[in-house]
Amino acid sequence: MDNVRDEMIQTGKEAISQRIDSLREELLRLSHDIHDHPEIGFQEFLAVEYISEVLKSQGFQVEEGYCGVPTSFKAVKKGKDAGPVVAFLAEYDALRGVGHGCGHNVIATCAVGAFLGLASQMEELAGEVWIIGTPAEEGGAGKAVLLEKGGFEGVDFALMMHPTGGGEQFNYINRGGRASGSLTVSFHGRSAHSSNPALGINALSAAISVFNQIDMLRPCFDIQDNVNGVILEGGTASNVIPEYSKSEFCIRAETMKRVEELVQMIKDCADRAAGLTGAKAEFEEEPIYAERYPCKPMCDAFRDNMAALGISMCYPKPGQRFGSSDIGNVSIRIPAIHDYLSITDDMSIMAHSVQYAEAAVTPQADEICIKGAKGLAMTGLDLLLKEDLRRESVAYHEQIVPDFYKK
Ligand SMILES: [Zn+2]
Ligand SMILES: [Zn+2]
Repeated sequence: MDNVRDEMIQTGKEAISQRIDSLREELLRLSHDIHDHPEIGFQEFLAVEYISEVLKSQGFQVEEGYCGVPTSFKAVKKGKDAGPVVAFLAEYDALRGVGHGCGHNVIATCAVGAFLGLASQMEELAGEVWIIGTPAEEGGAGKAVLLEKGGFEGVDFALMMHPTGGGEQFNYINRGGRASGSLTVSFHGRSAHSSNPALGINALSAAISVFNQIDMLRPCFDIQDNVNGVILEGGTASNVIPEYSKSEFCIRAETMKRVEELVQMIKDCADRAAGLTGAKAEFEEEPIYAERYPCKPMCDAFRDNMAALGISMCYPKPGQRFGSSDIGNVSIRIPAIHDYLSITDDMSIMAHSVQYAEAAVTPQADEICIKGAKGLAMTGLDLLLKEDLRRESVAYHEQIVPDFYKK
């Protein structure tokens, strides 16, 4: 029985590889088109148009504005019978002023290629393959928004890759990420001339008090808690009592739950500052980027598929610190991977830079678009055909995600 299955997997993977090779030209044009028209989060209309054109030209229907998010989309290919649902996630937002300095054009292309590759095999398979367009990763946490709106309901496994740099030694699988959030605190006071200050309510004093209170509490923070703030507005002239101030705080911690607690702590500081000064506090929050729980059995399967394609991948060294992404939010609910493939060997090129944006359309990056698509599609095939991999992945996910997230 296993022999038959293994043969099916082998033939399927070869067919996927050929299918993606046959789409090479369209896929690379897609990567370059997205790259050459960078759009920031929730404004990626051109990117969605380019992706939709490719999917439609291959006979797929594209649901644009998925879940009411204008620059999200979804396409589906059903198999011959009901079964597990594998979703490839596409990111395509750029950075203001930098363009595609995070290489999300590569992510989108890998997702589209993986979807088309695996879709070509679905007539033989039970289950479904989806592609979900997840906008605004760099700011706005599009995946958290989609999760909230039910965009991942029905998905059993979520897969994506992310480009990195520095060569194969940085091709990390199973890389974690911390939780992060941001909070903007504004104070509304009353202006007065500094010769008659008693008429005023000082909005800047309120802001300063918030910073001082946070520093008072800092010795009792958890080791991993990290709160950094800046004052964006705090008055216009020194002979006027400031009527308005605006501060922004970046909060990082081990878990989303802890970030929520820290956000509440800052709000409490602001409320006390409001009580002291008479200024009125106002808050603005973005969705929190959750910490990440990569699904190790799926990561290992992806690594094995990439190895077969001639690309080696490894685990990061323990204790390394990494940034945050909204894939974390997905990984709490669904077994998910977000593994890294280097698009440049130059270690001096940092992500989020203009140099990295340039690296995202080199022949080396193009090669990763194709191979990354193949590796993801093959891993999707593994999931659809290997019941034991699905079972292990679900069990691992269940064990690694803390109970406080489970409803
Ligand atoms: Zn980024
Ligand atoms: Zn990124």
